This record gives sequence, C-alpha cells and structure tokens, in this order.
Amino acid sequence: MKAIVTDKWILCPVCGAKTRTQILDDTELKHFPLFCPKCKESFISM
Ligand SMILES: [Zn+2]
Repeated sequence: MKAIVTDKWILCPVCGAKTRTQILDDTELKHFPLFCPKCKESFISM
C-alpha cells in the first residue's frame, strides 16, 4: 500500500518550464491540453 503521494509538476515539452499542471502518480494524461505559461501555448500530451 502506498502511504505517501508525491505531487509532480509537468514540464513543458518544448521549453522545459514547469507548468501549472500537477499530476499524481496514478494520474493518466491522455490528449490533455497542457498549458505552458512561458510559451503561452497549449500542447496536447499523449
Ligand atoms: Zn513552454
């Protein structure tokens, strides 16, 4: 059993900046619009 869940921040696939999107270990991202505040663009994560 997992007791501790560590929060993870997703990095922008283009510039590597930390996005404001946070996922958990068991979060599944499929076709998720990931917004990068640095690029000011959304990227679709597969
Ligand atoms: Zn970016």
